[in-house]
Amino acid sequence: MQRRNFLKTATTALAGLSGLLGTTLSASRLRADDASSSIPVFRPSFEKWRDDALSMAWIGQSTVLINFFGLKILTDPILFDRVGIYLLGTTIGQTRLSPPALRFDEIPKPDIVLLSHAHMDHLDYLSLKKLTNKFPNQIACVIAANTKDVVDDLPWKSLAELDWNQETTIGSGDKALKLKALQVRHFGWRLPGEKDRSKGFFKTGRSYNAYMMERGGKRVVFGGDTAMTDSFKEFGKTLQAGNEGGAQSQSNIVDIAIMPIGAYNPWISVHCTPEEAVQMAHDMNARYFMPVHTNTFTQGREPIGEPIARTKAAIAASKTMNLAVDTIGKSFVLPSA
Ligand SMILES: [Zn+2]
Ligand SMILES: [Zn+2]
Repeated sequence: MQRRNFLKTATTALAGLSGLLGTTLSASRLRADDASSSIPVFRPSFEKWRDDALSMAWIGQSTVLINFFGLKILTDPILFDRVGIYLLGTTIGQTRLSPPALRFDEIPKPDIVLLSHAHMDHLDYLSLKKLTNKFPNQIACVIAANTKDVVDDLPWKSLAELDWNQETTIGSGDKALKLKALQVRHFGWRLPGEKDRSKGFFKTGRSYNAYMMERGGKRVVFGGDTAMTDSFKEFGKTLQAGNEGGAQSQSNIVDIAIMPIGAYNPWISVHCTPEEAVQMAHDMNARYFMPVHTNTFTQGREPIGEPIARTKAAIAASKTMNLAVDTIGKSFVLPSA
């Protein structure tokens, strides 16, 4: 692409991103200054996590570091100050309201990076470039259908698209993880003009996934980015029917549901409310709820703190579910009993 055209595309994309996130860049900077002191961020003591347990911490936005019985998984890594267009060695776009719970140089080597979709606040090219350059040919990456091209120049150990309801096993023996892609209700274009599955391009458009991870008889669902959908109810039914019960499965529940809770106002057609997120977790028989996708960027018009407060209230009302954490950076360890 000629440089002029590229810059034009980048500028248009930036305008699109800004519109998508429901803010202007200058406004986000003002909000960032105001907000950084009011959003608590802890540093997870992941060095103490045991390799015979299931532990995780919310790093910010939808980035979650998971130690799944010794296998390290990182979801939608957003590890620097900005997200947006990666151009001439820097990222042009929105700044964070809160720092990541771990600095880039503190992030342990992930065995697997899971990417839900190609939106800028989930797929950050700079984070993935730095991770793969630090750990070349050591990280397996799984990504939604028709999004692989965004990151296929990076030195992954493996890079695979997984489409809705497809399953795969990553690694073997002690390091194996069963993975299934689940459908969500969202959209997929990264740059304006790209084909998008939600716009009718089912076979060729950019897609968007949630994932079910299973290992050692435990299940974690990473909900990706989604509006309210029956997909998780359908998945819950397949669990109840025992169709998902592998040799190691001991029950038909989801142990931890990692669900997005922010950016619903006014983007309700693509982002669920906290109550809907809790309902979807309930629909798949989740025991613990880990909230993400809030307190990191200015995306919706809802006040900072509202998504977490509404999530807590919805979980208290559910009576069947427990909140894993309510704060960026706090460690959660799944109780063994
Ligand atoms: Zn998205
Ligand atoms: Zn998002």
